[in-house]
Amino acid sequence: MPIEFPIVDLMSSQDSYEWLVDYFHPSGMVCPHCGAVLKEARQFRVTRRSQVPAYRCRKCDQTYNVYSGTVFEGRRLKPEQVV
Ligand SMILES: [Zn+2]
Repeated sequence: MPIEFPIVDLMSSQDSYEWLVDYFHPSGMVCPHCGAVLKEARQFRVTRRSQVPAYRCRKCDQTYNVYSGTVFEGRRLKPEQVV
């Protein structure tokens, strides 16, 4: 189980998500498979458990999200839990 800190209560999910994007992808999110920028992808769903948007790359047709390429990949955590 993730350890939850009091700060979790202070940050909204949206704030946490934006923080994660900046933290993991300081120069912007790119496709971890082919390197295409986020503008080349489209959002196709929101992962039910973690509530983060999932993107499908238009160039290579692979999917990714804010956690792709990080230690949190595949763990399905909510942004406020990771922060
Ligand atoms: Zn791609």
